[in-house]
Amino acid sequence: MPGIYIHIPFCKKKCSYCDFFSITDLQGVERFVRSLSKEIDLYSTQLNSKPLVNTVFLGGGTPSLLKTIQLESIFNKLKQYYQFNDELEYTIECNPGTIDKQKLSEYKSLGVNRLSIGIQSLIPKELGFLGRIHNPEEALNAITTGREAGFDNISTDIIFSLPGQKVSDIQYTLENLLEYKPNHISAYNLTFEKGTPLFNRMQSGKVHRNDDETDAEIFEYVSDKLAYSGYEQYEVSNFAFDGKKCRHNLNYWNGGEYFAFGPSAHGFVNGTRYWNHRNLKKYFMMIDDNSLPVEGSEVLTKRQMLEERIMLGLRCEGLNPEKLNSEFEIDLLSLNQELINNLVNEKLMENGNQKLRLTRKGYLLSDEIITKICAGLSNFK
Ligand code: SF4
Repeated sequence: MPGIYIHIPFCKKKCSYCDFFSITDLQGVERFVRSLSKEIDLYSTQLNSKPLVNTVFLGGGTPSLLKTIQLESIFNKLKQYYQFNDELEYTIECNPGTIDKQKLSEYKSLGVNRLSIGIQSLIPKELGFLGRIHNPEEALNAITTGREAGFDNISTDIIFSLPGQKVSDIQYTLENLLEYKPNHISAYNLTFEKGTPLFNRMQSGKVHRNDDETDAEIFEYVSDKLAYSGYEQYEVSNFAFDGKKCRHNLNYWNGGEYFAFGPSAHGFVNGTRYWNHRNLKKYFMMIDDNSLPVEGSEVLTKRQMLEERIMLGLRCEGLNPEKLNSEFEIDLLSLNQELINNLVNEKLMENGNQKLRLTRKGYLLSDEIITKICAGLSNFK
């Protein structure tokens, strides 16, 4: 069952590491909401039925900058063209510093049932380094406020391996966060994306990336700590209590379809990947012109689809070789027999119960392992 992703391209302030498309001039929010509604109208001509949707995810940017009435108009517009599963997972990303109990209660009454809160760190110096708008207390209060507003499915994001970070630093953040028992935690290694202020500071020698050993040491600590605290690591960077895995992301990782709206949003429908312009002026212009704001699209070849399934499967809950074999008419295991045997012997991979799955040690080397497995498919077109 497909999902819907909506990109809300506004933030109060740009974080130093952020490569997502967003702007800090909030004057265009109202116009954006109108254009988004029109984009949903324009896209509806491509639908030949009213698709049943399993998840809606508002990401950004900072969707929690939206007023309730704006969120309501977006949701009502979606309802015109899509049916929602009774068990719809409806997530909104929130930034501490942009929410209060009343706003979250109103979101809840509109059907939002999952919050994804950007905590990132609970150390003031680290939050300053990342350019976040909130302090640790505000970050933790956001979880409490979410609970008070009635949310029983709260995810939190943290970032680890900041330059110079030690295990004791991430331990401090995690131990304080775990007292609030978020239902889901996404833990990402800090990346230095080209074009961000953080990247520029690295280029000019003002900050230095941690070495691979430090990254690995901190990642292992995070994985162990969360496993010990009852979270299942169901993807390299994602940990959940029972029943609280993110269904929206699981759909991506399982190769499912998703519709996408808003500037820079990416969708995948009928084997075609498409992406919208990453520029608000262009987005407005095209919609005013009654055109979909699509910048590009590509029909995935069978080979691309297979590689994507291998990559997403191994980063996530594992691959079912039998299923892939019949879907793609290959023999995945014999094409990679020696490599897989070696990975199993080195305890980087488990092969059993019709599943090939990376171990925690294997997750650390996931990019390298996936590249090697895909290279083993060299004759597959
Ligand atoms: S709040 Fe989120 S989307 Fe906005 S700049 Fe910071 S990291 Fe990027």
